[in-house]
Amino acid sequence: VSELRRDPITGRSVIIAPERPFPRTTPVTAGGRDACPFCEGRESIAGRELLAWRPSGSAANGPDWQVRVVPNRVPVLRVESDFAETSDVLLQSLGGLGANEVVIESPRHDASFASMKADDIARVLWVWRERMRDLHRDIRLKSFLVVKSVGRTAGAMLDHPHSQLIALPLVPQHLEDELFGAAAYYRTGRRCAFCDLIAEEKEARLRIVGGDGHTLAVMPFAARVPFETWVLPQAHGAMFEDASDATLAAVAERVRDVVMRLDRVLVSPPYNLLLHTAPRGEMARTCYHWHFEIIPRLESVPGLAWDGGIYINPVAPEEAARAMRAVDSLRA
Ligand SMILES: [Zn+2]
Ligand SMILES: [Zn+2]
Repeated sequence: VSELRRDPITGRSVIIAPERPFPRTTPVTAGGRDACPFCEGRESIAGRELLAWRPSGSAANGPDWQVRVVPNRVPVLRVESDFAETSDVLLQSLGGLGANEVVIESPRHDASFASMKADDIARVLWVWRERMRDLHRDIRLKSFLVVKSVGRTAGAMLDHPHSQLIALPLVPQHLEDELFGAAAYYRTGRRCAFCDLIAEEKEARLRIVGGDGHTLAVMPFAARVPFETWVLPQAHGAMFEDASDATLAAVAERVRDVVMRLDRVLVSPPYNLLLHTAPRGEMARTCYHWHFEIIPRLESVPGLAWDGGIYINPVAPEEAARAMRAVDSLRA
């Protein structure tokens, strides 16, 4: 039986049309090691570092590091660009202003969030946060995106674990939609929609993947694709830049646990991990709640079915969450 659902925050429409068995995909395997610019020892090829985690105190731009940030060699946007706002109200262009950095998440070519220790993932989150705090000093930059891509189907050009940090002089549409929905909800009851969602999901227990006192991993009611999972800090916070080290550590462990379960259930699927965090502005602080969205990219899944913006998802999130929770019994 299929079911039409709407996302409570964005209003996005999804048709849940269950199919059996679960869609599968070609597992991600790490190849292309020989020419990899991100491997340890090839620092000069990857580029001059903007920030690195070097616990041994090793020299910048040489080997012996845990996480390294370099400018994207082919940036989509640049901080040095002119902020050439056009006067045309209908056809707006903001020039090429922005920033595009690459975070090399491990010196190890075959590392993954499933095999890395939670501490190592926390270090990656720390780097994202520190770079955002630095870029925030440029008041022209309004919002940030972090996109981690694993596997070709998810858009990764290289197999070495990495993510892109993008700073924009505008608020992208997906964030605008979430902010709009969250603000509308806030106006009705002076409450954060995400905080209320956390409470409701904990009560219902149907879509929970995992959690602890600080975090919750849950599949959204109107999941766009099979096994879409959100990881939220339970304490209210609009901006990732403001998260404490303790919060980052707890979220890192939750993300690790979700990716490990996905790897077990779907056999190392390609996926994207996206950070959603509030742009500059006071309104966003009260009504928005930062979180990660993990989107597996499975083959033979229609995803966006029609250009009208309706998704068709062949796996109900309740079913997917049950499979993810069952990983514990598989291990025992
Ligand atoms: Zn590599
Ligand atoms: Zn909240």
